[in-house]
Amino acid sequence: MRCPKCAGQDDKVIDSRSSREGAVIRRRRECLHCTHRFTTYEEIEREEFFVVKRDGRREPFSKDKLLTSLMRACQKRPVSEEAVASAAERVTNEITGRFDREVTAQAIGERVMRELRGLDAVAYVRFASIYREFQEVGEFVEEVNRLATLPVPDKRQMALLSDSEEDQPQPRERP
Ligand SMILES: [Zn+2]
Repeated sequence: MRCPKCAGQDDKVIDSRSSREGAVIRRRRECLHCTHRFTTYEEIEREEFFVVKRDGRREPFSKDKLLTSLMRACQKRPVSEEAVASAAERVTNEITGRFDREVTAQAIGERVMRELRGLDAVAYVRFASIYREFQEVGEFVEEVNRLATLPVPDKRQMALLSDSEEDQPQPRERP
């Protein structure tokens, strides 16, 4: 590895540990020329894996793309970057492990929705509404209603799904 400080080509590994459940090896290295310490990450190169889209076109699977769409769904939601990254990791591992060489976009979408449902209700509906390309408003409402029957860890999340009742003037009870 070329030292990022002096560009020297010789280094020794001073620490080596696996992270992300063994998917990545993290190595701490020391440059033999200037003693600068730096870190490298090693992970298995995935064989070409394709996503088959609705219209039949195929495109190489991109974990970055998956991560981007997850992050977009979770934008401004109380979900940590770390939680989103590990969800993307789980989805990637599952589909590349279960499918051979190609997977339908639909299968990825279903898997992503399962992850999002556990993370954040709003992020889930956001993703579902885009992903499933709801044909009718009715379908979307159905999905929201179905979602409302699921156990939700945080009730405030559900409040955001419907029109906020707190904004409406409440009829006053007569004294
Ligand atoms: Zn160096």
